[in-house]
Amino acid sequence: MTESWGRYPQARHAAEVRLHWRAGLTLPLVGPMLAYGQGRSYGDCCLNDGGKLLRTAGLDRFISFDSGSGLLRCEAGVTLGEILRLMVPRGFFLPVVPGTKHVSVGGAIANDIHGKNHHRAGTFGAHVRRLELLRSDGEAREITPEDRLFQATVGGLGLTGLITWAEIALRRIPVAAVRMEAIPFAGLDEFVALSDESDAGYEYTVAWLDVLSRAQRGIFFRGDHVAGAVHAPRTRTAVPTDLPLVNALTVLAFNAAYYAAQKLAGRSRVQHWDPFFFPLDGIEHWNRLYGHRGFLQFQCVVPTREALAELLRSAPASPLTVLKRFGAGASPGMLSFPRPGFTLALDVPNRGEETFAQLARLEAVAMEAGGALYPAKDARMSKDTFARSYPRLGEFSPHLDPAFSSSFWRRVTR
Ligand SMILES: Cc1cc2nc3c(=O)[nH]c(=O)nc-3n(C[C@H](O)[C@H](O)[C@H](O)COP(=O)(O)OP(=O)(O)OC[C@H]3O[C@@H](n4cnc5c(N)ncnc54)[C@H](O)[C@@H]3O)c2cc1C
Repeated sequence: MTESWGRYPQARHAAEVRLHWRAGLTLPLVGPMLAYGQGRSYGDCCLNDGGKLLRTAGLDRFISFDSGSGLLRCEAGVTLGEILRLMVPRGFFLPVVPGTKHVSVGGAIANDIHGKNHHRAGTFGAHVRRLELLRSDGEAREITPEDRLFQATVGGLGLTGLITWAEIALRRIPVAAVRMEAIPFAGLDEFVALSDESDAGYEYTVAWLDVLSRAQRGIFFRGDHVAGAVHAPRTRTAVPTDLPLVNALTVLAFNAAYYAAQKLAGRSRVQHWDPFFFPLDGIEHWNRLYGHRGFLQFQCVVPTREALAELLRSAPASPLTVLKRFGAGASPGMLSFPRPGFTLALDVPNRGEETFAQLARLEAVAMEAGGALYPAKDARMSKDTFARSYPRLGEFSPHLDPAFSSSFWRRVTR
């Protein structure tokens, strides 16, 4: 059964079509269909219960690279990890990366993803110069940021058609090292002060928070690419089977141990880019730690520090609570999630009604504050929340491809 990363909800697909070669590609005549990249979305935006999935992992070819301009053209199933493996030794890096490198180019565009450098670089879609979109009427349209269809496709949740290839502007970097600092803090005032100080001087900033500690302690990470010799990480572990290990007690223990380990490791280090950007990729299938019922992630953005404080008062136990202040740069997509303010992301095991009630409280606080929820991380937001989070929905809808749909889309629009 094809799943999303949170393993909730489950979906049964009528058919799964594996795409291999973009030239002469034809789509199934009858929908509803939906592209599926690496399934790294947490909820149901990559699922199409009762419909068809177009699996893009076979669209994995690099097409061209111009080392003068840094423009890379590749098929939409290529993963960000594959791009980095090829390009970092040549002195180039992706302009924006999320918390895992196992994400396809098509998925990165369709959710218009953001990274630790949002305050500097904006979203992934802001660096896409051109792409090809295959519509269900058989037409392949080459579109650029000036086109309305492009603005609907970036952050368009796969609903405007199939992206077959894209052209991304890479950035130059001085080889594989990152100089990073891990700074312990306590309370939101210190987090905001560190954001103020660091966003001006550092390319990458993000914070981890121990939601269970009364002092709201956390670790603020900031870093920059630097030249230097560092070893690539070798060891990888894997969670072999479903092990429901995440509960209030283990979260308490994990948070205390993580905080202590970060303090012990010292404030400043030079490390390889891989563990700096993708620490969770060191443990394969870590989503199995939540057991077969899966887990839900909640990610929202709220405009003010006061709203963030209110959210944290209602936050459930979570081993992965992440805070970041987004920058002011406009997102290129009609349905892009990032906007100025504070973003909070947390994971909770799926315990049914209790979990849904906890997350509904957070949702209410975010909505009251004029915030938004992120579809890539969602399995439960209401229709009303979606409409309030995305005021350009009316502008987007005419660009929908009538043969494309998803479990998420049906849930939040019907
Ligand atoms: C550990 C972890 C950390 C993460 N950290 C971040 C983060 O820091 N920032 C962030 O923004 N996100 C983050 N994410 C979420 C992730 O980046 C997005 O969900 C991303 O879209 C997943 O890409 P995918 O290839 O797995 O796409 P899927 O999850 O398979 O699909 C996502 C959407 O893209 C569409 N799509 C995929 N391919 C195509 C295509 N070729 N044409 C048209 N539509 C397509 C699908 O239809 C679907 O709507 C994280 C996820 C994980 C698991």
